[in-house]
Amino acid sequence: MTDHLILGAKILGETTADLVLRDGKIATLGADTAAPREGVPLETIDATGLIALPGMVDLHTHLREPGREDAETVETGSRAAALGGFTAVHAMANSSPVADTAGVVEQVHRLGLESGWTEVHPVGAVTVGLAGENLAELGAMAESSAQVRMFSDDGICVHNPVLMRRALEYVKSFDGFVAQHAQEPLLTEGAQMNEGCVSSVLGLPGWPAVAEEAIISRDVLLAQHVESRLHVCHVSTKGSVEIIRWAKERGIDVTAEVTPHHLILTEEMVRSFNPVYKVNPPLRTAEDVQALREALADGTIDVVGTDHAPHPTQLKECEWHQAAMGMTGLETALSVVQHTMVETGMMDWRRFAEVTSVRPAEIARHGHQGRPLAVGEPANLILVDPQARRTVRPEEHATKGRNSPFSGMELPGRVHSTFLAGHRVVADGALQTSLTGREAD
Ligand SMILES: [Zn+2]
Repeated sequence: MTDHLILGAKILGETTADLVLRDGKIATLGADTAAPREGVPLETIDATGLIALPGMVDLHTHLREPGREDAETVETGSRAAALGGFTAVHAMANSSPVADTAGVVEQVHRLGLESGWTEVHPVGAVTVGLAGENLAELGAMAESSAQVRMFSDDGICVHNPVLMRRALEYVKSFDGFVAQHAQEPLLTEGAQMNEGCVSSVLGLPGWPAVAEEAIISRDVLLAQHVESRLHVCHVSTKGSVEIIRWAKERGIDVTAEVTPHHLILTEEMVRSFNPVYKVNPPLRTAEDVQALREALADGTIDVVGTDHAPHPTQLKECEWHQAAMGMTGLETALSVVQHTMVETGMMDWRRFAEVTSVRPAEIARHGHQGRPLAVGEPANLILVDPQARRTVRPEEHATKGRNSPFSGMELPGRVHSTFLAGHRVVADGALQTSLTGREAD
């Protein structure tokens, strides 16, 4: 394995330091660099102008494998993740077959280890087949080699309150948590976009904010009642923020996530009838976007989760009503958060690291991710060029999905290098070699 000497990186955008990465760890930090080792190649990286951050951790990625390899595979999604600055992603369970058994989660986990571009942690389904009727084998998935701690029927809400309660109770025994896609199904039947003035004008069935807020209200009370851990996926409304703030003030163990696209895009985009803007939960109002930014800045929302949802072209380049819901996000997340949160002065790079790495790693209980950049810590880290600007071109992305809502937009920031356990998987914005032969952590 090659040692790396990184010269002059700004640690969390603050002080400048040199780092040596050796044997998967940060060996030295500061002016006092280690001497080269005999027989071990040393790569020197001039990091002038670059910021060193802990590798990003995504709690919400759709990798589509098994079953929808036309949309994405673990390999292509992992490549996209590494290029986007992620050293760990969580693969949602709505594959085909659904990841509702130890066998499927072990398969996804193994595919991730074989790819070696990023850590792939499978999410287990809460209910068998995402059908919302019977609890899946949560314990068997937790005990499997994939060591699943995160459970979600994402794409579908765990609507039945008894099942939701049972799931919250069950995951406590292995320190797991339930990540809810909060959408009251009866209030959103046939919904195509946010319910409001724009949906009235366009004549599209609306997805009202209350359908999200009603489920979050119920679930924080259930989490309180059974003293378990709840994570709210892709919070999209101002009202949801207020409920989560209320719950946190009462000490309820709830964490929340926002997607990059909900931090920047509004329902106004739907006037174009371009299905690239069709997503679930839908794009909301400018007032919601502002509330989400403030909540991410003040900690009411804990993390950014991409909800990276690649689709084959024929499912997005069609009529609005027929189009699939979802957007890609792994390769643009850093830029969108920099643009909406850092460049607006709402957060610094230290806080950026908290919401993209430290907190998601804590929530998922990954002790080797989201760590401080300090001697002895695992070398899962990235170098970012904050001055770079680029125009988003989905056709150049590593994901199979071309459904990026940021296509053609000029955004700041670029991931220069990604180090996975000290191995440089991305250099100067391009994939290098993956980290193969790695054992399960
Ligand atoms: Zn979802």
